[in-house]
Amino acid sequence: MLIIPCPHCGPRDEIEFACGGEAHIARPLVENKISDAEFANYLFIRDNTKGLFLERWHHSAGCRKWFNLARDTFTHEIIEVYPMGSLPKKASARTSYSSSWRRGTLAEKAAKTGKHSQTEGRK
Ligand SMILES: [Zn+2]
Repeated sequence: MLIIPCPHCGPRDEIEFACGGEAHIARPLVENKISDAEFANYLFIRDNTKGLFLERWHHSAGCRKWFNLARDTFTHEIIEVYPMGSLPKKASARTSYSSSWRRGTLAEKAAKTGKHSQTEGRK
């Protein structure tokens, strides 16, 4: 049994929660063009890490709010709970975020504005 510390309700049994899978997967913006293969990576490919993993959780039988969790999937130790839209503060969780293969994908770059080529026509 896993006791999950909801940031809004406090520690609760895992049966009150639904795991939303891997955290920090940025959706490519429609104005940014990426290949079908890159879009498939964004849509279907998920990590299944043994060790520190950054996940989204939903307190579905409680406050119904989403939050992020840095958790060791082998020991089930919860390293950090942090809000949606932010990055973890602990160094190990930060390293897990920055070392993910996803940080270098075209889909991740296409999730940011200003990546389409406004200046290319001026060259
Ligand atoms: Zn809650």
